[in-house]
Parts: sequence; C-alpha cells; structure tokens
Amino acid sequence: MNIEEYQGVWVSIEQRDGEIANVSLELLGAGRDLADKLGVELCGVLLGDNVKPLCPTLFEYGADKVYVIDDPILKNYRTETHMVAVGDLVRKYKPEIFLYGATSNGKDLASAVATEVMTGLTADTTILDIDVEKRLFEASRPAFGGNIMATILCKKHRPQMATVRPKVMKALEPERGRQGTIVEEKIQLKEENLRTKVLEIVKDAGKKVNLEDADIIVAAGKGVRDEKGFQLVCDFAKVIGAEVGATRDVIEAGLLSHEYQIGQTGETVTPKLYFAFGISGAIQHVVGMKNSETIIAVNTDPNAQIFEVATYGIVGDLFEILPLLIEEFKVALKEEVGVVHA
Ligand code: FAD
Repeated sequence: MNIEEYQGVWVSIEQRDGEIANVSLELLGAGRDLADKLGVELCGVLLGDNVKPLCPTLFEYGADKVYVIDDPILKNYRTETHMVAVGDLVRKYKPEIFLYGATSNGKDLASAVATEVMTGLTADTTILDIDVEKRLFEASRPAFGGNIMATILCKKHRPQMATVRPKVMKALEPERGRQGTIVEEKIQLKEENLRTKVLEIVKDAGKKVNLEDADIIVAAGKGVRDEKGFQLVCDFAKVIGAEVGATRDVIEAGLLSHEYQIGQTGETVTPKLYFAFGISGAIQHVVGMKNSETIIAVNTDPNAQIFEVATYGIVGDLFEILPLLIEEFKVALKEEVGVVHA
C-alpha cells in the first residue's frame, strides 16, 4: 500500500428516513478541524434512497464535497450493502482519515469496512488530533477501565479510521448557503443477490429516558446512600423539571435501571445544567458528562475529583442541601408562575 496516495478527511453520514444523525454533523465539525490542519478537503459519504437533497445541509456544516450513492437498495442500513458501497468508494478515492459515529450502525459499518479494505480502526474515541508533519491521525480513547487515555495510531495502512462517540465533538454553526461539490456514484449490487432482507423496522418504544437530549440532569452518586437519599434527588429533579441520572454504583445498588447510567459504559450527556450529588468524579463517570455547559457539584469531600470539572462546587452534605434547594426552588418557581399569570 502506498499511503502517500491517500488524501482527504471523510465522514460517514448517518441518516434515517432522510434525517441526518446529529453525530454526523458533530463529526463534520471535528473533521473540518483535521482537514484544515492537513490542508485537504472534508468529504461526507452519504448512502440511502433519495438522500441527495441532504447535501446542502452537509455543505453548510463544513463539508467541501459529498460522495452520494442514491439507490433503493440502500434504503435501510445493511452491513452487506453499505460495506460494499463504502469499500468501493475508499478503493477508488483513497481518503487518509475516515470518521464514523459510534452508534450501532456506525460501529457495525466501520468494523466491516476496516476488514473490507484491510486497515485499522480505533473504536469509541473521545479525542481526535493530528501530527501534521507525519500526517498521522491521533485517536484517543479511555483504556484499562478508564484509568488511562490511550492514543492509537495506524501507521502502515490507510484510511486511518475511528468511531467517535455522539455528543463528544461539537458541530459547527451552519454557514447558510455554503456550497460544495456533489459526486454521484453507483452501487454494483443487485437486490436478488443479497443474503439479508429487511422485512420490518420495529421502532424501540420501550425507552423511557432520554438523557442525551435533556437540558437539565440531576445525577445521584453513591453519596445518596439508600432509597431515602435517592428520593431527595428525584424530588429535586421533579421540582426543577430535570431528568434523573446516576453513576454506575447507584445503578448497581439497584436504585435505577441501566439506561440511566452516565459515563463510559452508559450515556454521554451534554445538558445545559448538570447537578452532581454525592459523586466522586471518577474518570469513567466524568467522560460521560464533562461537556455539560454548567456543572454544579455537591460533595462532603473538598478534595473530590468532581470539583475539578465543576463550574460551581459546594462542599457540604447533600442530606442538608437538597431539602433546602427543594424548598427554595418550590417558592421561586411558584413566584415565577405568579408573575406570568399576573
Ligand atoms: P464513589 O466514588 O463512592 O463516590 C461517592 C461520593 O459521595 C464521594 O466522593 C463522597 O465524598 C460523597 N459523599 C458521601 N456522602 C455524602 C453526602 N452526605 N453528601 C455529599 N457527598 C457525599 N461509573 C459511572 O458512573 N459510569 C460508567 O459508565 C462507569 N463505567 C465504568 C467502566 C469500567 C470498566 C469501570 C472499571 C468502572 C466504571 N465506572 C463507571 C465506575 C467508576 O469507576 C466509579 O466507581 C463510579 O463512578 C463511582 O461512583 P460514585 O461517584 O457514585 O461513588
């Protein structure tokens, strides 16, 4: 493989029913930065049925070029079709870096493409950088149970590929009317030759929590001790209209189910406001919430690591502070409602 032939930063654009996944827009933001440092084009790879109308949005979010394959065979994601389509594009146009969202489909596609074009893949990355001189992509992720950050290089193969967690990178502000180039390609597969058929799509209606999109999260740590302490956290969340989240220790204590877990093996969240009650700030938790706009932490231990990422820290006992907050907010919010109706 002559790695010098490979140029450009690519982003796999995930879409469902014509709606672009937020993570793809976030990756265009991260990819723009890498492409600018390398002095190359940022390209999107868009597959689906009747998806070409999405190209202008991708240009507005930073893409210079979009490779589109518009074909009914690509209507629903299938490893078989998407791997062949992307593999062919990679062999033909030779990108040097290729980013995918660390979603179920993104992870599936990236690993299949890595095998198809015989290159490396770093999964679940949270920090991306570039050694411009050596043109080496530096993809970092927590390793050894989150105790270290490992930076992984792919020196001898191209493209250098990574999946990136949703909500970790920031999308650019869209530049209205920004133009780019559309390159239309075809897929060389026929439906009758495929082994996998999509018979039905069943939407997951069972998910009760939506931490990813919450504006305010009140999170409980092991400091809440038991159901009584946990109830105080829930009461406070209810008063201010927030979602409840938790550390792994609280989940393991059986106070909440797993979909409420925030952190490395749970959800990554970026609310406007994140309250951390009785949370020590272990790296495995912090990677999932550190990009919250404002973090307010309450902990009895002045040396707790959570204070290193907190915007405001209160050294104190949550059993004293939460009842006060609940009462204060009840009064304040009632007054606010009163003013609105006056
Ligand atoms: P602790 O670390 O026990 O902290 C409790 C805190 O409460 C302390 O700081 C204490 O000072 C404070 N406190 C005690 N009493 C009070 C009080 N009355 N008022 C105020 N503060 C008080 N963890 C996650 O959260 N999410 C993950 O996704 C995750 N993934 C993991 C993956 C791996 C592979 C591993 C090895 C671990 C993972 N963990 C994860 C666990 C993580 O390492 C920590 O153990 C966990 O985050 C600690 O939870 P905690 O802060 O609730 O508990």
